[in-house]
This record gives sequence, structure tokens and C-alpha cells, in this order.
Amino acid sequence: MEKRELLYEGKAKKLFATDDPGLVIQYFKDDATAFDGTKKATIASKGVINNACSEIFFRLLEGHGVRTHFVERLDEREMLCRRLDIVPVEMIVRNVMAGSLARRLGRPEGDRLAAPIVEYCYKSDALHDPLINRWHVTVLGFATGAEIDTMTAMALRVNEILTPFLAARKLLLVDMKLEFGRFQGDILLGDEICPDTCRFWDADTGRKLDKDRFRHDLGDVAEAYHEVHRRLTSPA
Ligand code: UDP
Repeated sequence: MEKRELLYEGKAKKLFATDDPGLVIQYFKDDATAFDGTKKATIASKGVINNACSEIFFRLLEGHGVRTHFVERLDEREMLCRRLDIVPVEMIVRNVMAGSLARRLGRPEGDRLAAPIVEYCYKSDALHDPLINRWHVTVLGFATGAEIDTMTAMALRVNEILTPFLAARKLLLVDMKLEFGRFQGDILLGDEICPDTCRFWDADTGRKLDKDRFRHDLGDVAEAYHEVHRRLTSPA
């Protein structure tokens, strides 16, 4: 397998073609952005941590029968993945009131939800990823009804698998963003699963161990990412 041209450069990752049209390489950068790219910085070793955390989660999910784009981690910053036709809908799964949901509904952060909430956002930086519903997804043709139902069921399954795995490592899975794509007629989980895309709170103290430390200038950002990785790799 040979690395070929840059296909796309995003805020936190680069995507490279390979000599196999069905495979791509995700390269994880240290760049961090927040608030639609208005806040920028680099977080030392963030790309290495996010690649390693994503590998752990993708392997765990595959082991539980959730199909993902993960093939293998190639090195510290690179992951070999199946090339997906990404569905332009970000799926948010929430277990605890936080972030944009707390702001939108005027609620304090931290209340446990009675059951998980799934939200859909249209993937568009220019429009700031607006919240949409199932009607927008199907009527505007972002995905079929069958596809959005599959993605929703998969997102809830991912939440069911990750929540106890993280709890055993003293991490509360507050919420997360998942992306899915089409591959040879199936829907696969894509993108990354890491402290950039999930909220992880220390189960005992509630300390934030995720990108909110960067978003809200809470300090010790790199240390928090390392702590998540340390817990994921420690025996439960
Ligand atoms: N999230 C993400 N990318 C986005 C928006 C959200 O990875 O473009 C993640 C975020 O880290 C959190 C979850 O999705 O774990 C829910 O985010 P929320 O809607 O609360 O948005 P925020 O408060 O970050 O604006």
C-alpha cells in the first residue's frame, strides 16, 4: 500500500489517497480550532493521542459488531481507513446536559438525561453545522430514511458500548459527535472518536478531560488528552 496525493485537508486531519481506490490514510494534526475556526492553536501531541484513542474505540466497536472505516493504525499519526462517501449529517449523542444543548434550552451543564438524546446537524462549516431533523435529512436528500435509521441505531449502539467501557476507566461519556459514510452498499462509522469529538468528564470529580479545556481556556489541555489516553490503555 502506497501513500498518494492529498485529497482533503480539514481543521484537525488530512486525508491522503492510496494506490488502492477503496482505502485512504487519515493523518492526525496537532492543530485545534473552536468556534468555527475563529480560535486556533496547536496542542502538543494531540494528533498522536487522537489517532491512538480512535484506534482503541474503533477496535472495541468492531469487536462488538459495529462496522467502521478503521483498517489499521499505520504509525503515530496515520490510520488506514476504508474510503467512505461521507453522509453530510453529524450525529450527536448525549447522555448529560452540556454544550450547545444546555445553551439552547437555558439549562445548567451536568444533569444526567433520562435517556440518550440523538441530534442531527447538517455538516457545513459555512452554515455553522445547523441543527436539523429527520425531515430535513430525507426531504433534502442528505440520506435516505433507511440510512438515517441505520445511522441512528448505530449511534445509539456506539453509545451503549462506549459508556460502560469509559465508566470502567472513571470517565463519564457526556456526549459525542459521530460521522457515517457509505461503503459498498453499507453504512460504516467513520471519522474519529477522541477528546476532540467527545466530552469526557472525570467520573468522580467532573473535571473536563476534552476539547472544552481548549474552547474555554481551562488550561492543561495537552495533559487532559494524555490523561484520557492513559486511562484507555490502563486495565479497567
Ligand atoms: N462536536 C464536534 N464537532 C462539532 C460540533 C460538536 O466534535 O463540529 C462534539 C463536541 O465536542 C461535543 C458534542 O459534539 O462532544 C456535542 O457538541 P455541542 O453540540 O454541545 O456543541 P458545542 O458546545 O461544542 O458547540
